[in-house]
Amino acid sequence: MFLTVHTTAAIAIGAQITNPAGAFLAGLVSHYILDVIPHGDETKWPNVTNGQLAKLALFDHMALVINLSALLVLKPGFDLTAPMALAILGSVAPDYLMALYRLTTSYTALFWQKLQKIIGPLEKFHHLIHFHIIKYDPPFWVGAILQATIMAALWILI
Ligand SMILES: [Zn+2]
Repeated sequence: MFLTVHTTAAIAIGAQITNPAGAFLAGLVSHYILDVIPHGDETKWPNVTNGQLAKLALFDHMALVINLSALLVLKPGFDLTAPMALAILGSVAPDYLMALYRLTTSYTALFWQKLQKIIGPLEKFHHLIHFHIIKYDPPFWVGAILQATIMAALWILI
């Protein structure tokens, strides 16, 4: 699922949970819950090259900044709080760890091998969430509409 959706969910969470650690954990958990929902891009990820992944990540981060800016400008009374920022960090962590895992798989230095051992189980869990809970991946356009609908619902909640 796009980081834009994950971070919008995190903002909604951070608006409700004021405890910083709780907001971070809830943001993290929300990532996995949202990723269980079939969202149209799961089967494509394993075949995407690192270069393509970087381009998609750049696009997603631009959309994320535009979304946050739009919330700040268009939502009356909206203010980015510390719990929201921490929830955002929690909500993006699984995908950042996935990227770090993918980018360092061929590194042989001891540091990277140790890091792979630490991140590996989390990445396996992330993979399980995507592919083995609900074994269905709709077409990309269906997933895009679904993700836009989730975003719209979250905008209303915030
Ligand atoms: Zn994810």
